[in-house]
Amino acid sequence: MAYDPNNIFAKILRGEIPCKKVHEDDHTLAFHDINPQAPVHVLVIPKGAYVSMEDFTARASDGEIAALFRAVAQVAEMVGVTAEGWRMLANVGANGGQEVPHLHIHVFGGRRLGPMLVKG
Ligand code: AMP
Repeated sequence: MAYDPNNIFAKILRGEIPCKKVHEDDHTLAFHDINPQAPVHVLVIPKGAYVSMEDFTARASDGEIAALFRAVAQVAEMVGVTAEGWRMLANVGANGGQEVPHLHIHVFGGRRLGPMLVKG
């Protein structure tokens, strides 16, 4: 899938749409999900134009890849979920249920998160 520069996260990265920022560094931005599915629900995104995990790992630099995973762990620490436990998740493509075509990693926490997948 080609990258759509008008996707909602690209607009957030350009400052065209506001976000509730949690963390930012040279390669990543993290912000609260607008429709949280848990008491803590933060999205961590690379600043580069990558649609999916396979696009990201094929084209991003080692520095960008390291920064994304470090940012996920730093965000989990910052929002206070590491002691009780938390979940990271990336939906990719149609079967994954990906709604926004810019790679994003969800960070969930703040309650027992239940089974990994909904049955059915
Ligand atoms: P996914 O289904 O994995 O593509 O997740 C997309 C997520 O983006 C959903 O959890 C939405 O609630 C969230 N989302 C959509 N628009 C915004 C926005 N403007 N700010 C923050 N989160 C958003």
